Amino acid sequence: MYHQKPILGIVVPCYNEEEVLSLTVEELDSVLDKMEKEGLVSSESFILFVNDGSRDQTWPLIEDLKGRYERVSGLNLAANVGHQNALLGGLMTAKQHADCLVSIDADLQDDVRVIRDMVLRYREGCDIVYGVRSSRKRDTWFKRTTAESFYKLMEGLGLRIVNNHADYRLMSRRALDELARFTEVNIFLRGMVPLLGFQTGVVYYERLERAAGESKYPLKKMINFALEGITSLSVKPIRMVTAAGFVVFAVSIVMAIYGITSNLMGKAVSGWSSLIVSMWFIGGVQLLSVGLIGEYIGKIYREVKRRPLYIVERELPPAVRRKAVDE
Ligand code: UDP
Ligand code: MG
Repeated sequence: MYHQKPILGIVVPCYNEEEVLSLTVEELDSVLDKMEKEGLVSSESFILFVNDGSRDQTWPLIEDLKGRYERVSGLNLAANVGHQNALLGGLMTAKQHADCLVSIDADLQDDVRVIRDMVLRYREGCDIVYGVRSSRKRDTWFKRTTAESFYKLMEGLGLRIVNNHADYRLMSRRALDELARFTEVNIFLRGMVPLLGFQTGVVYYERLERAAGESKYPLKKMINFALEGITSLSVKPIRMVTAAGFVVFAVSIVMAIYGITSNLMGKAVSGWSSLIVSMWFIGGVQLLSVGLIGEYIGKIYREVKRRPLYIVERELPPAVRRKAVDE
């Protein structure tokens, strides 16, 4: 099932990347060239540049590169839809023509040399190979700390995501076919891919600086991205409201006992006991109700995603049946 000489597609989402693209294509093309010569990948391997509604000369440049490099292909999206959607679009388009796909950013921050390691892991039988940053020395202090806290938070929420892995990864054709069954529209790929299961591998690399141009992820987009990641994968925040409701409710019972006893002992100012008891009680009831409604919303949220309930890795049918089908 695993091709020893797979057709490898490299999918590159690009948004306003005119400054870096000529460099990127050169690097990626030479990586493919070397691997082809080594006999690691098929000569039909290709690079797909996805233009995510760039406002600069990115698309004309891709058209031009297609003329100059045999392996280059392009996909022009009609509007800017954001990195995750553009990447998914590229993967779904390219998977029909490849045995495995590597997704990589256009800016050469991810070391292209590890594509070879990814392919080696694929040939060993891995369906998904994650590129993991072994160090973020080159990232700014701010980017590093915010990213680290984000991964911690995701872990705290019980989400299965690979630490220090962005969207630099290899996926086999069948893993991509299964990913296509996730019909949700709020997508956060690095949280969804681990849900697939399959045999996975990891390769390490050092994150480099952007080769040219500037980051397309300013702080605002980064915060949105993090929020999207959490809310599109986890119902834990809703659970926290329910838990808070229980806590406040418990406090209200304690306060009720305290309020009534101080009232009976004549220690309380008149009116205080009824006020304090009802305040806590109503607070508790409200939070619990919101949490309860939230639980239903959480169910709806999982329901509307229509995610596959299971993914088959392999089936071993009885020989008898195989014969029956043959006849
Ligand atoms: N990108 C995209 N659409 C967008 C924003 C970014 O396709 O709306 C692409 C961008 O061209 C790059 C990748 O997503 O290939 C990652 O963006 P960037 O390198 O700017 O993010 P950073 O590395 O700074 O987090
Ligand atoms: Mg980058």
